Amino acid sequence: MSSKPTVLIIGAGFTGCALAYDLTLRGFSVTVVERGEICSGTSGRTHGLLHSGGRYCVNDEEAAIECIEENIILRRIARQCMEFNLGMAVAITQEELQFRDNYQAGAEKCGIPVRWMESSEILAREPAINPSVLGGFEIPDGTFDPLRLGLAFAASAKNRGAVFFTYHQVDGIHVDGQSRATNITVINRHTNQRIQLNADVIINATGAWAGKIAALAGVNVPVIPTPGVMVAFNQRLINRPINRLALPGDGDIILPQRRMAVIGTTSFEVEDVDYIPIDAGQVQQMVDRAAEMVPAVRQAGWRGSYMSARPLIQSGTDARSLSRTFKCYDHEADQGLKGFITITGGKATTCRVMAEKTADLVSSKFNISSQCQTSEFVLDSYRTFYFRQPAL
Ligand SMILES: Cc1cc2nc3c(=O)[nH]c(=O)nc-3n(C[C@H](O)[C@H](O)[C@H](O)COP(=O)(O)OP(=O)(O)OC[C@H]3O[C@@H](n4cnc5c(N)ncnc54)[C@H](O)[C@@H]3O)c2cc1C
Repeated sequence: MSSKPTVLIIGAGFTGCALAYDLTLRGFSVTVVERGEICSGTSGRTHGLLHSGGRYCVNDEEAAIECIEENIILRRIARQCMEFNLGMAVAITQEELQFRDNYQAGAEKCGIPVRWMESSEILAREPAINPSVLGGFEIPDGTFDPLRLGLAFAASAKNRGAVFFTYHQVDGIHVDGQSRATNITVINRHTNQRIQLNADVIINATGAWAGKIAALAGVNVPVIPTPGVMVAFNQRLINRPINRLALPGDGDIILPQRRMAVIGTTSFEVEDVDYIPIDAGQVQQMVDRAAEMVPAVRQAGWRGSYMSARPLIQSGTDARSLSRTFKCYDHEADQGLKGFITITGGKATTCRVMAEKTADLVSSKFNISSQCQTSEFVLDSYRTFYFRQPAL
């Protein structure tokens, strides 16, 4: 029997996998339960933009600072998942050109290094950009491979003792008479068998599903599932992420992913995160917008369109202006439920620091004064997640 404190994490997206890694490094005994494959929720369906924070530096300073700090760390620890290509924020319209000073001031305030480029330099570097481009900033964006990033964190956790139950869906959380969440009920989706798992602490890392899982334990998490659609083309078209020089809007990102280009995205609210149909009108609207930046998208063949939902935290504003920062809920402090924590919101780019803050809270519950070490070591190869998997 292990004498280590035990932690159950629900959800194996970027957040759950990064958290499993952090907690195993701090000496916890960790079990992760995921209803599908690793990264089968939102994490497997993002653009793969390693944010510099430029996108948020004018109207969401907190998220922008988190992004640039984590961008630097992920470039160091997750090199196996990265394309080191930098990015651009380009002005196509006069209105965007007039945004230049605001953007520069926001970037400076948030510590994001940017460099102004005239249109001739932009076109020399990225000939597919609209020849009417008026100028733009070079920004430290990058591209990552989403599955490799999730698997690299998961492999690093597993290689240090974490146990992953994939294809196990949580459908119940038991709360005892002392208002403590003590165990969960899960269904093995291969065999339909139901098992119970218990732990000292249960962590809800289910992203856009966090509200549903919290409700099983009788607590409320104000997460707003906010989907966006993306379209993949069968040519790269450009070699670095290109953003519009403006506040975030629909269809204002295009980036290379291996031999493809991906454009995105929209932002709207839904209630049922398990059924989000792809709206052909939104797809067309995004292609039209992206063609203003890179006209060749109109001639490129489509590889596919896909959708996923952001876990954004309710703040009483519309979906586009909800902050991209994250929140860790200690449900003992906010609603009197012991042994249950939710971590949600944030970005792929900030998953490591989301895990760090959550692991700090878990450690404090056990009076363990452990330091986060995840920014210090290069992650294990993503391949070792499956390589060392024991036979079922
Ligand atoms: C359209 C779009 C584009 C984006 N692009 C970027 C980008 O380019 N760069 C960036 O940094 N961020 C991006 N993001 C944000 C980023 O993808 C998310 O913040 C991140 O993936 C959330 O990870 P997560 O682990 O919290 O959630 P998820 O990846 O959704 O993980 C939650 C997991 O919980 C599991 N789960 C749910 N219910 C249960 C249950 N009952 N039992 C067991 N398991 C359960 C799900 O299957 C899922 O795997 C984008 C988001 C969207 C929507």
